[in-house]
Amino acid sequence: MTTLTGSPALKVQVMCEGIRYTPALGQAAAHSMPNYYPYRFKEGEPDPTGRGIATIPYLINTADGTEIRILGDGDSPWHVEGDPAQGYQLIDDRSGLEVAIGFEPLRPWLTQKTSDGMPFAQAGLTVHGDMLIINVAPGCEYFLHKHEGDSMRCTFCAYGAPDERTKHLGQVTGRVEILQPTLERMHEALEAVLGQAEIRHIYLVGGSLTDWRKEGERFLQLARFVKGVNTRGIPVTLGSGAIPDDLIAQFHAEGLVQYVCFNLEMWSEPLFAKVSPGKNRYVGYERWIASLETAVRTFGRGKVYSAMVAGIELGPEYGMEWEEAARTALAGAEDLCSRGILPIYSIVWPVGGRQRADYHARIRSYFETLVSGYHEIRRRHGLAVADGFMCHRCAYMQLECDVDRQAAGVTA
Ligand code: SF4
Repeated sequence: MTTLTGSPALKVQVMCEGIRYTPALGQAAAHSMPNYYPYRFKEGEPDPTGRGIATIPYLINTADGTEIRILGDGDSPWHVEGDPAQGYQLIDDRSGLEVAIGFEPLRPWLTQKTSDGMPFAQAGLTVHGDMLIINVAPGCEYFLHKHEGDSMRCTFCAYGAPDERTKHLGQVTGRVEILQPTLERMHEALEAVLGQAEIRHIYLVGGSLTDWRKEGERFLQLARFVKGVNTRGIPVTLGSGAIPDDLIAQFHAEGLVQYVCFNLEMWSEPLFAKVSPGKNRYVGYERWIASLETAVRTFGRGKVYSAMVAGIELGPEYGMEWEEAARTALAGAEDLCSRGILPIYSIVWPVGGRQRADYHARIRSYFETLVSGYHEIRRRHGLAVADGFMCHRCAYMQLECDVDRQAAGVTA
């Protein structure tokens, strides 16, 4: 069924099965980049914190540089032992397998502040491995709109709600422009990050606007600012929603970005409409793909990407078994690659269906089948994920770079 071996196989397995809490994992949080989601102890699980939740690290690094996102799960057969002095081991209870691991470190910038006292952590930056993500306008207008009682936000989205973060960044609904002090604070934080970590990719993202032209204009302002401060010439990706053709041409003409990534999220119009109703209503499936095609004509084959969520369609409301979901996703990968567009798949755990005994097994079978099949599709189309866009040191829940690297025989 699957051809995955080595680190890619371990990564899929640990991402799907999660890791249960141990004091060693809790101790590692003291020197590691913290997880956005605290560990929640399940009922009856020993809880040495006595609080029901605990801070845990966000990312595992294996010896060959593979990054694995940590999902806390009290039922998982995986746990961590060790300490900072002796090193840590990831252990599978079933087989006794022990893998030497480290964690993405807690860098000083995460506790430092701008000259006017704002924590860098609130200045609109995050770091995954060697990728710096700039998000100074995270609030997404799709969260504010409903049609026939249904929210227009993407069903899996937990990060686009206008909240405290948008307040810190001075983002106000209806205003397209990003405030200059917001950009200046982000710049200060960016300089600190560049001084403390090796950054090889910059990714511009943000919440969506219901008017795709206005969204493109906001990203133009951001990309022009970043070009002015990106003195090291680090490759930049435009991670907006789909935008009109003339704006795509403008980004290219000014040399603002080297790569484009408009996230289609789901292949097939019915799934797209269901999972991303706002994108479907305000842009539309056909226009989204046409915009990606314009980007290929403008930037070239292999420079245009589309992030996809993989696994959500296994939720009971979609009624899909993993074989059908994998077939649909692979048909999408084939189609997109034939247009010169590279989809990038991130695993998303379906919220429902946890009572099924095969909950973890079907997500794993689906993702392994997709990852292996998509590797073959890329090979056939002569497409590879560009090293400037993304690499195995920042792909923390995506497998494309790991699988291609393994196939090329790179082991360190
Ligand atoms: S477009 Fe969808 S995924 Fe992106 S921020 Fe809005 S709701 Fe979330």
